This record gives sequence, C-alpha cells and structure tokens, in this order.
Amino acid sequence: MSIPKVFVLGLDGASWKILKPMTKELELKFFKTIFKKGSFGDNKSVIPPITGTAWPSIFTGKNPGKHGVFDFITVKDDFSTEYNSSFNVKSEFLWETLEKNNIKCGIINIPFSSPFRTKITFGEGDHLTKDWVNFSWPKSTTLGIRADNPAFEKRFFEVLDIQFKEIDFVLKNKETDFFAINIFINDTITHFRLKNKLLIKKYLLKLDKYLMDLYDKIKDESNLFIISDHGMHETFGWFFTNNWLENNGFLVFKKKKKYIFSRIFLNKKLFDKLVKIITFMVLKTGLIKFVGIRIKKLFHRKIKTQFRDSQFLYPHIVAKNIDWKKTKAYGIGSHGVIRINLKGREKNGCVEQKDYEKVKNDIIKKLKKIKGIEVFKREEIYSGKFTKQAPDILFEIEDGQYKSANSYNLKKKEFTKEGPNKIDADHSIYGIFCCLGKNIVNKEIKCSILDLTPTILHIFNIPIPKDMDGRVLTEIFKDKRKKLFQKKKIFEVGELSI
Ligand SMILES: [Zn+2]
Repeated sequence: MSIPKVFVLGLDGASWKILKPMTKELELKFFKTIFKKGSFGDNKSVIPPITGTAWPSIFTGKNPGKHGVFDFITVKDDFSTEYNSSFNVKSEFLWETLEKNNIKCGIINIPFSSPFRTKITFGEGDHLTKDWVNFSWPKSTTLGIRADNPAFEKRFFEVLDIQFKEIDFVLKNKETDFFAINIFINDTITHFRLKNKLLIKKYLLKLDKYLMDLYDKIKDESNLFIISDHGMHETFGWFFTNNWLENNGFLVFKKKKKYIFSRIFLNKKLFDKLVKIITFMVLKTGLIKFVGIRIKKLFHRKIKTQFRDSQFLYPHIVAKNIDWKKTKAYGIGSHGVIRINLKGREKNGCVEQKDYEKVKNDIIKKLKKIKGIEVFKREEIYSGKFTKQAPDILFEIEDGQYKSANSYNLKKKEFTKEGPNKIDADHSIYGIFCCLGKNIVNKEIKCSILDLTPTILHIFNIPIPKDMDGRVLTEIFKDKRKKLFQKKKIFEVGELSI
C-alpha cells in the first residue's frame, strides 16, 4: 500500500449547517475526530458559489478573474450553452505544478480536471464535461439516472460504494504523493433529498464510516483534507432574473413571442404521449426497434434542452424572444448574473459605452431593494485579465435561500415558491474545511477555498506563485512545521502555454 503525503477528499456542497448538528445527533465518529484533533472551519467560496467556478478556483488558488471560468458553461452566439472543460481554465492546476516538481499525483473526478492537459501519474476524468445525468467518468461511477427516478436512492448508495472502492484501489495499486477525489453525489443528495431526513441520516452514517476507515488507513503518513467547494442551504423559493429585469424596464420582449410552437412540447404529459404514439407507429410500420428508440431519445433530448416545465421558458428560448434594440440588460447562466447589453461587446448590444456605468448603477440600485440581497460589480470581486469576460453584475439572495434562475416565468412573477426543478436545497457561500494529520493542530479556523493550493504547495516545499490569491494556512501546522514554511510567494508563474 502506498499512502500519499497529502490526500484531498472533496465532499461537494458539504455544509456545517447540516454536518455539525448531525455529528451530534448521529455520533458521527469521523467528524467528532476532526473537532477533537484536527483543524476545521468555514471555507468561503467564490461568487457565484457554484461547482463549475469553485473547483477551478480551489485547484489554481486563484480567483475566477485569473483562471477565466465563471460558470459551468460557455454561452455561444445563439445563446445556446456548452459545458466547459479543463481547456477553459486558463491557469495551472495544482497537480500540473506538482508533477513538474516530480511529485506523483492521482486525480479522480475533480470537476474540470479533464481532459488532463499534461502528463499525470494517475487520473480519471470528471463528470461535468459530460451530460448532467451522466455524472462521472468512468461509467462505473455514473449515477445514470435523474433524481426523480424511483431507483435514484439505490443507485446513489451503489455509486458511493464504488467511489470508496476506487480509493482503496488507488491506495493498494498506485504510487502517489498527492491524491485528490471529489464525491460529487454529496451535492446531488443535498440538492434533491435534504428534506428526507431519514435518507440523509442513512447516508451520513455510511459516509462517516467510510471516512473513518480511510483515516485509520492513512493517518500515520498522510495529511487528510476534507473540503467542499460551497455550502448548501434549504431553498425556500426561486427568483427569475429576466422577469425582474422586464418588470423593471431593463428588458423588453418582442410583441409576438416565438414560443407558441414550442409550447406543444411544454406539456410533459402530452409530450410523453406524443413520443409513445410516434414510437409505436415507427415500430408498427415495420422499421427496426433501433430506429424507434433513437427517435424516442431524440425527442427526450429535445425536451430536456428546450423546456423544463410548462410555466418556464429555457434561457435560450428567452433570448430568441428578446427585443434587443430596447433591452439594456439580460441574465443568462447558472446563477444570479446580469449582463449589460453593451454595444460593441454583446452580439445585439444597444447600450452606448458612455451609458454603461449609469445603466449598471441603476440596476444595482433597484436590485438592492430586494430583501436579503447581496449585489456585486464584477470588478469588486474579481481581479485579473479575464475579469472583463465576467457578467457585469452578480448577486446572491439570502445566501442561497432563493435560487436565481435565468429561465423565464410565463406567469411573469419574479419570485415563486416552485421553480423549473424540484430541489430541496441550493448553494450557499460557506463550505467546509477540515484537516487531520500528525503535524496539524486542533483549531477552528477561517479560510477561503483559494487557500488549499498554496497550503499544499507549502507542504511539499514548493514556492508559491506571486499571483496566487489564496494564502498558506500556517495556523493549521504545529510550530516546527510553521517555521519551516514561512516562505511566501517567491516567484511569478508565466503564462500557461497549453
Ligand atoms: Zn459543488
């Protein structure tokens, strides 16, 4: 067995708001050990606190303005979207720096790590460059079903077993100095089942046992980091950015909206019936089954990409119906973001450069009237040469209690209780940080997700690049080690040439 010197286990979306009371109630052995022996604390995410932006920030140690990824997706000219991959991250990943320094790395399922851009000792790709349903690669860790499928829970526990078997496999068969894996399904179960307390308890008991077994195996030789990329908060409702912009005069629709045909597909029951009839007809007319299945799949893909529910229009359908000449701002993306329809920058831009600041400030002033909202101009939260690619305005409502959507509510309401997806919880700013190891003190700390990469470089005695935004968490190390690692930010890394 080869034990890595540093082991990072991501519990995607884990939150102390859930874990602390559960540790007490369920007597979770591993988490109790952390509070007794390790360093732990709130781990502040980036804005927006979403997986697609957070993991590249964690493993570059840089804010999104420096690595250039502000979302899971890139919006194309026709307002359709495309998933990002490692090639959208314009900065060096931790494992790339480590391998250059002859430190052997094993990486499994870290969002946006794949495809691996440089040679790696051991690596398996992540799920986010794939379809939403096909969570992980390889297929053995793919959930393969949606959360509303009755088989979801059974499959969920199977995937959890597979991921910990993978860890065992790596420890037994691969020689690594640094190993990182993300348990993404932690995010999934919290999003879709937080209100099912019995299930959450069953899951946490199982997870805790797996973590305790892992810690027992590696504790003499390794520093174990358990982190999340953002927190989770129970969701009380939805906020529709484009409805708000329309109701406040910043967004105007064309008089005749072109989604009438689309609405045939909006009624899911009717649509399913239609698919059944077509499939039946194809089969009956003597065509081979294969064709029938293909047609069925095609229709389902169509409904998935076009519409979510009869009440809500998908963002790129919204975009097609916007009167761009009269629209000053719009929202598109996975979270609460607004782009000013700036002339020369946006495809259909109409806001003159000289009016840019005024329009932005007018929107912010009105947005701030919403109870519990936090509003940010991009330049207030990002630095670096990619900042100019970010949305102009970003916001959070009551730390994730209201999920912002960029689809359009046909009932014209800005706030609703039910949204396009049935979710129990959504992302919040504070995730978790824990570290256990021989040279780690027992202390509650405050840190940011940007601190992990410089801290790990520190452990391996590798100089920290000057442009890194995170800091070395010197307070988690015992004195001797702390002194040994006082060096900071000694060299500058050049542009990434990939
Ligand atoms: Zn996440």
